[in-house]
Formats: sequence, C-alpha cells, structure tokens
Amino acid sequence: MSYGVVWFKRDLRLHDHAALEAASARGPLLCLYIIEPDLWRQPDMASQHYLFALECLEDLSASLRQRHIQLLVRVGEAVAVLTQLHQAAPFDALFSHEETGNGFTYARDQAVHRWCRAHGVQWTEYRQTGVIRRLRSREGWAKRWEQFVAAPCLPVPVMQAWPSALHSDVPPTPDALGMYLHNPPQRQRGGRRRAIAVLQSFLMERSAQYRGGISSPLSAPTACSRLSPYLAYGCLSLREIVQACRRKLERLGPDAGHHRKGLQAFVSRLHWHCHFMQKLESEPEIEWHNMHRGYDGLRENEHDESRMEALTQGRTGWPLVDASIAMLNQTGWLNFRMRAMLVSVAAYPLWLHWRPVGIWLARCFLDYEPGIHWSQMQMQSGTTGINTTRVYNPIKQASDHDPHGKFIRRWLPAMRQVPDTWLFEPWRMPPAVLERCHLSDGQVIPQPVIELETATRYAKQRLHLRRRDPEVKAAKQKVLTRHGSRQTQARRNGKPRRYDTPQLGLQLDETSRSRNQSDLAESEDHAGTGTTDAARRSPSTR
Ligand SMILES: Cc1cc2nc3c(=O)[nH]c(=O)nc-3n(C[C@H](O)[C@H](O)[C@H](O)COP(=O)(O)OP(=O)(O)OC[C@H]3O[C@@H](n4cnc5c(N)ncnc54)[C@H](O)[C@@H]3O)c2cc1C
Repeated sequence: MSYGVVWFKRDLRLHDHAALEAASARGPLLCLYIIEPDLWRQPDMASQHYLFALECLEDLSASLRQRHIQLLVRVGEAVAVLTQLHQAAPFDALFSHEETGNGFTYARDQAVHRWCRAHGVQWTEYRQTGVIRRLRSREGWAKRWEQFVAAPCLPVPVMQAWPSALHSDVPPTPDALGMYLHNPPQRQRGGRRRAIAVLQSFLMERSAQYRGGISSPLSAPTACSRLSPYLAYGCLSLREIVQACRRKLERLGPDAGHHRKGLQAFVSRLHWHCHFMQKLESEPEIEWHNMHRGYDGLRENEHDESRMEALTQGRTGWPLVDASIAMLNQTGWLNFRMRAMLVSVAAYPLWLHWRPVGIWLARCFLDYEPGIHWSQMQMQSGTTGINTTRVYNPIKQASDHDPHGKFIRRWLPAMRQVPDTWLFEPWRMPPAVLERCHLSDGQVIPQPVIELETATRYAKQRLHLRRRDPEVKAAKQKVLTRHGSRQTQARRNGKPRRYDTPQLGLQLDETSRSRNQSDLAESEDHAGTGTTDAARRSPSTR
C-alpha cells in the first residue's frame, strides 16, 4: 500500500483536524508543510505573517515529534514540491483542509487539482469552518453552521509514519524570501500552546469585560478575545472555541449575567467569522472588484497619493486615527471599531479606493484573513450596496471612546502636553498654547490632511447619488441573494435573531431591551448585520 500526504496549510494543529484524522484512518502518512515563496511575496503579505506561521510550525512539529512523526517542511512552489515527493516515493492520496484564501492560493489550489488528476492522486479536502464550498443558496446556511460547530471535536488520531529519508528545508528568512518587511515588535506570538493560554484567560476572566469593553481602544486589547491570529492560522479550530465557550456558559452561575452576555456576544462573532468568509468563498472576485458592480468608477480614478501617504504614515491630523495607526504598527492588532473607523476615514473624507487601503491594512493586521478582510473593506467603504453605510467621525469617536485622551497620549507622544480642551482637534490650538506644549525635536502635530466636515459631506453626497441610480438600485437584489444574511432579512420580517442568543433561545427583543445603547451599537457594528432598507437609505454618521 502507498501512503497519504497530509498537507498542512492554515490549520496548524493536530486536534480537531479532519484531514489528519482521515489520513490516519487510511494508513501510513507523511505530514507536509510547504513554504511557498510566491505566496509570501504577495502584496497582501508581510513578514509578520510568515514569522507567526513559523512559530506555529515549531509547536506543531514538536507535537508531532512526541508522536514519532516528522513534519516535513519544504520550500518551493506547491506543485513542484508535490512532484518531488511523488518522484521520491509515489503516494496516491492527498489530504488537506479547504482554504478560503487570496487569489494566489485559489489559483495554486486549481493547479494542484490538475496535478493530482494527472498523477492519479486523490485529493480530499475537509471543512474546517462553517464556510460551505460550492454553496448554491444562502438559505439554511445558519443551520448548517450550527450543525458544523456542534459536531464532536476530533481527538488527535493515532498516526503511523511513512518511513521516509526526506529532510526538511531550512526556512528562509523574510529577507531572503524578498517579502514585504513589517514585523510589529509587540505582536502576538504563534503556536497552539499560546493560543490555548489566550483562550483560557479569555474564558475564565476577560470575557466578563467583553460586553461594554470591545469598542474603546483602551479596554478592547484585554476585553476582546485576541484569538483572531490563532483562528487565521488554525492553531485552534473554530469548533473547539465554540464548544469551549458553550461549556463555560453551562458552568456560569445565575449571578454571572454580564459574563454570560459577553460569551454569547463572542459566539455570535464566531458565526460572523464564517458569514464573512463565505462571501469570498462564493465570489473570489470581491478581492479586486466591487461586490456591487454599480459602484464601479466611484473612486477608482481619483486616487490621491498624498492622502494615502498621510494615512499609511499615521499623519492624517485626526489624533484618534493617527494613534490607532501607531498602535497597529506596534502590535499588529486593532479592535473592530478602530478598524472600521480607519477604513471609513479612508473611504469617505479621504475618498480612497478600498483596494490599496486594504492591501496596506492586510499587511498591518497579523490576523489577516482574506475572507473577512475584503468583505469588511468593501462593507465599510460602501461598495457592497447591501449594508447600512456607516461613516465614522474620528473626532466624535475620540470623545466617545477615549474621553480623557489616555489612548491618544499613549500612542502619540507629541500629544502628551496638549491640554484636554484641544486634544481631539489640536489644529485649533492658539499658537501661544502650542508653544507651551514643548514639542521636542522632530515632534510635530500634523494639520488635518483635509477639512473633515466638507470632505465627508461631499463623499456622502456622491455615494448617495450613486445609490439612488435606478440601475444600481435594481442590481441590489442580486447581491443580497448571493451574500446577504438570511437572519438579517428574517429579522426584518419579525423573526428572532439567532446568533446573538443561541444558548438561551432568547429573542432579539428580549436581549435588546436589557442592553444599553452602547452595547447594542457594539453588537450591530461588529457583526455588520445591517443591510440598507427603505428607512435607512442615507449614510449615517457615528
Ligand atoms: C476593515 C476590517 C478588516 C478586518 N479584517 C479582519 C481580518 O483580516 N481578520 C480577522 O480575523 N478579522 C478582521 N476584522 C474583524 C475584526 O475587527 C477582528 O476579527 C477582531 O478585531 C479580532 O480581534 P479578536 O479576535 O480579539 O476579536 P473578538 O471580538 O474576540 O472576536 C472573535 C472572533 O470573531 C471573529 N470576528 C469578530 N468580529 C468580526 C467581524 N466583524 N466580522 C467577521 N468576523 C469577526 C474573528 O474571527 C475574531 O477573532 C476586520 C474588520 C474590519 C472593520
């Protein structure tokens, strides 16, 4: 009998690993990870992603070694590596998880499929999230998600190694790979052991702050789960996290209402994780094209490089925006609201197209997950045609979520001596006050790159005009049918909201009555459930 190859991709764990389970049940196996130079050189990739993946591989490799299995790490193009292995010792089965990646991985998977067919290798791919391949209709999607996450987690299988004399390649440095170098000094580190520790601390303590804590950039770093990079590289499976969360919910006492709501809200985000990824899976073109093609030409030909530069260098002049960029550059992470605000500022007052902004942010976010990222980029830029357009005012956001300027002063040293009165609009400071700020050499307080109010009003008008176009209106239903949340549509028809309250079976009305306004805003924002309807057709400013 031949052997099977388990191809690890963004599923760097042994637990709840359907491909590993199937290969082990079949017979001897070889565990493979391919470092694909062309993948890491893609414009949406940065060295932080690669280094995080290598940290995950160290953990994975150690876990396999304990079980007397080698992780073979090879550098090269996927088809070339598979060919080498096949020439050394022919195999007839390839096992992996399905991947909803960027355009590069999509094309590479097609090439691997062709190679497998030509070489008589059966490639079986397994689901690792609630995303459904070749989905025909969104009807019943939520039910299928629930079935997927509720199925038993797979234990680490007993594995039988295929005796092989092959050796791993030494992973090249990011420099040698010629990739974009960006590695935030305070980013999270990879690996399953770290992922478990982060999950534990969230379930035990931090999730009690989830409700009410996720919007402010001050509380969010601890109130949010911080599981996103571990989900993106598959150190933990989505199912493991949902089930751990539900077990914790069962153990919470009757007086832990706030904690309970936090965990329930968190599970709803895990549902949205797959909901957004499904959009890219169903329509890979949304990585490049507007989800609603009626918005084509809106911003494409008006790219202003000086505005883009001000944004990427964190000198827009709006303190909360610049402080968020400073934090992102140091940590590789931002909470949802600050991400949405950055994109809103880019898309509206700065009138930048989502594609170059999205490439920049993909490199900056350690947790870059193409399916979530491109769907969110489009949603926050108003090009889906089906979501409520939210325009975030960075001055209002600062006074709402950083009222004492702690966040701004922490990340922007030049702002430390600016008196509270001018903290959110320092350009209004009289020269005499500015002088008393004692800026050191090289420190500047930038002027706003554009006049916010006028630019935002102009942007809203342009978007609104496009949205009212009869052709654009008519084409909306097609997008809604393909990508819209059936729950949102059902809710509008008076049906309950399932994934905000799945464990208790409460209905939206009951929960929303007990929430305060800010919690409700967090929930709507984060999930991004809103779709435009007759009553909310004009963009709202937050
Ligand atoms: C423009 C933009 C780009 C984004 N790009 C990414 C990305 O590349 N990768 C990514 O994981 N998230 C992305 N998000 C969603 C969200 O901001 C992050 O998931 C979250 O900040 C990660 O931190 P956390 O794990 O502590 O979040 P938690 O609040 O603890 O959420 C838990 C998990 O739920 C999922 N999730 C949470 N919020 C959302 C959401 N709104 N949509 C879809 N899934 C969600 C994520 O998998 C997250 O890890 C993006 C949001 C915006 C506005």
